[in-house]
Order: sequence, then C-alpha cells, then structure tokens
Amino acid sequence: MPKKIDIKKIEECIREIIVALGDDPNREGLLDTPKRVSKMYEEVFQGMTLSNGEIAEMFGTTFENEDYDSETHNNMVVVKDIPINSYCEHHLALMYNMKVTVVYIPKDKIIGLSKISRIADMVGRRLQLQERIGTDIAEIVSMVTKSSDVGVLITGEHGCMTSRGIKKPGTLTTTTTFTGKFQNNDLLRQEALLIMR
Ligand SMILES: [Zn+2]
Repeated sequence: MPKKIDIKKIEECIREIIVALGDDPNREGLLDTPKRVSKMYEEVFQGMTLSNGEIAEMFGTTFENEDYDSETHNNMVVVKDIPINSYCEHHLALMYNMKVTVVYIPKDKIIGLSKISRIADMVGRRLQLQERIGTDIAEIVSMVTKSSDVGVLITGEHGCMTSRGIKKPGTLTTTTTFTGKFQNNDLLRQEALLIMR
C-alpha cells in the first residue's frame, strides 16, 4: 500500500516557519498559506508515496514486440526533452527547466511513448538529487520493457544554485545514466548520446 503524505503536519510546520521568519501567520495574505503549501506539496511530492515498482505498474502498459530479434538488433527508441520539475533534497529548492531524454533498446515489450513521459513526471515528484531521477527512471523503464539497455540524459536548473549563493541563472546541470549494453559498449553509448542531445 502506498504511503500517505501527512497534510496536517505540513500545515503545522509551514505555520511555524512563518512564525520563525518573524511574520504574522494570522494576517490576511498568510492565513491560508499553510493549507495552500500542504496542498501543493501533496501534488509535487506525489511520487514519494509510490515505489519504483508501483510507478512501473501504474504506467506499465506495453505492446508485444513481435518478429523481433533483439540479440541481433540494437535499434533504439528515444523520447526526447520531456519537461519535468523536481525538488532538491539538500535545500528543498525547486529544480526547474528540467528536460529528460530516455533511450532504450526494445526486447520483447514496447512501452507507449506517452507512458515514458508519465514515468519521468512521476519520478520528478520526489525530494531527491538529479542523479537519482536518472537512475530511478532507468530502473522503472527497465522494469516495464524488460530491457536492461536504458539511458537517461537530464538537464536542469537548480533553484539552490540560481537564486542564492553564487547566483548563476542559466547554469545547467547535466547528468547521464546508462545501463546494460549502453554501459558496456562505448560505440553504442556514443551513438545514443548523439541522438539524445
Ligand atoms: Zn540544493
């Protein structure tokens, strides 16, 4: 059974943060803020209530890949530039302008392309680091397609880098994850990266 997000607790804590910031949680503009934030958290952290296996089940509709010999073919399927958001676990800051590109070599199961977008979107709804978004998406796509050959390229801006500290707006963080043949075969990985970029 999925875990549940404790909405009431979040409301209490946000109210405490407002007090700690020295503001009045009872003034008109802030009165409903704890409620609004907890509602927002419920939505943007929905993926925290689901395991990778549960996400794979949710979006796991596949088609049979008939007359196909994956031992001799290395045909790639690429879904490019899926927009997602997430939150960095170090600062609870928004990671935004994120684009996820997924590549995989089909075996006997083919996943609907829109399902890959929905998997990426749901994985984004967690408190995490960008690297983990890549490994989690790769794991789920692998669970669904039964293919161990998956690659994920992610670029994104992190609010904790662009809005504080050194303040470098436009700084893109890029991460890659490759499994199976992509990890073992340099040529194949280079070919994939050419298509993914
Ligand atoms: Zn951060």
